[in-house]
Amino acid sequence: MPPTKVLIIGGGLSGLALGQCLRAANIDFEVFERDRDEKSRPQGWALTLRESLAGIYELFPKDMPPLEESTSLFKDLSASDHDLAGLLSKKDKVSFGGVLYNTGELLAEINASERNDIEHHWFRVDRTAFRQWLSHGLQITWAKEFVKYEETDCGVRAFFADGSSTRGTLLIAADGAHSRCRNQLMGPGNVVLEHAAGGTIRGDFNVTREEYRELLQKGAAVLTATSPEYHFFMGPRFFSNKDRTGTYYWAVTWDNRDDPRIKAWTPDTHGDEARQMALELCYDLHPSLRRFIEQTSGDELLDSKVQLLQWAPDVDRLPGRRVTLMGDSLHTMTPFKGAGANTALLDAFDLAQLIVHAGEKGVDVSKVIPVYEATAVPRGRETKEFSKSASLQPDPTHWSRTMEKVFAAGYKWEKLDLEKVAI
Ligand SMILES: Cc1cc2nc3c(=O)[nH]c(=O)nc-3n(C[C@H](O)[C@H](O)[C@H](O)COP(=O)(O)OP(=O)(O)OC[C@H]3O[C@@H](n4cnc5c(N)ncnc54)[C@H](O)[C@@H]3O)c2cc1C
Repeated sequence: MPPTKVLIIGGGLSGLALGQCLRAANIDFEVFERDRDEKSRPQGWALTLRESLAGIYELFPKDMPPLEESTSLFKDLSASDHDLAGLLSKKDKVSFGGVLYNTGELLAEINASERNDIEHHWFRVDRTAFRQWLSHGLQITWAKEFVKYEETDCGVRAFFADGSSTRGTLLIAADGAHSRCRNQLMGPGNVVLEHAAGGTIRGDFNVTREEYRELLQKGAAVLTATSPEYHFFMGPRFFSNKDRTGTYYWAVTWDNRDDPRIKAWTPDTHGDEARQMALELCYDLHPSLRRFIEQTSGDELLDSKVQLLQWAPDVDRLPGRRVTLMGDSLHTMTPFKGAGANTALLDAFDLAQLIVHAGEKGVDVSKVIPVYEATAVPRGRETKEFSKSASLQPDPTHWSRTMEKVFAAGYKWEKLDLEKVAI
């Protein structure tokens, strides 16, 4: 039996998390990433670490820098602004506000700091800082674009766009929502990503210290307003310590592709035209929120090509012998439950524990694939469905009323009971 070597395709959140768990267990692995380096591609909005936190603390190497201090979206603010630090460390550290779209009335608010045990602890991370943190101490081969693999009974070989190739005993496709590896594994034409919304228009706007203080006081880590016709949400992206400004995003999504106000919209629509469509669609959004769309200039409208897509396999066992999927490549979901990254990390934790277990038992590492998929595939499918249902609703109070339930529902990290795992 050849010694275990894990090839990880994709150095995004789940690929790096798997790398860290394998590093902690001294298992041989390599991470291949298409990006030139960890900062070469903007990482988008902040995200909330929640159900994956306990696994990070349990399975990552002990030499990792402190997580919250290194990655919190509010870390620079807290360090420089003692007044605000007090506010952020108390009531409004992370809160989700659900607002009635046409009155601006706050219907529901969830504050993480009310629940400070590890199981209920959440915090908002800056995505770039989190990816950098996940890269700590890892050997990552950057600028390495995977193109295809070949599987045999005793190994797997990955091929790259630069003409090189490498061999391993297991290949984990952590190459995201548009996974190339998944297309090969599932067969050409068998993966059709479904559009989870008719379209999305997004914008960024800058705020002064006074403005972000006011927004943070309202508890707006994420503020959402759902009408029967659209879903509006906004939140902070990052803060500049130097000039004490903040950058917030807003986004509006809709379902009805035939709505005359946005009928002409395509993923290429941008600038003032897109802003005008957003304003027309959100004609009845309360002025306290609508003003953010009004304030955004055409130049600050973001690329609308980022689509809300969803997909999960409808079979529980994938066809790979030494190849499997992890994270967004296995379950692509909308961001409305904030579960994509957390679920991707749960996949990485399960896989890592099983790979270590196979090593300890001296069995071929490919044996872990069916055991892993038996949990990860249905979990991903269910979470994808839940994320969709947390989206557009005919009843505008639904999302706010059920926010607590939506965030509480779903899978939490649990250490695998390896005594019971037969491989
Ligand atoms: C707007 C938005 C907000 C979100 N908010 C949240 C949130 O609050 N909470 C949450 O849990 N989730 C959230 N998510 C979801 C989260 O971003 C994803 O679920 C998560 O990034 C998935 O991790 P991953 O490792 O599977 O994929 P990714 O992080 O996308 O990483 C995939 C990596 O593979 C690389 N790659 C792709 N193709 C190749 C190739 N051919 N060769 C080599 N490398 C390749 C890519 O460059 C990338 O680095 C949000 C998503 C969006 C769009």
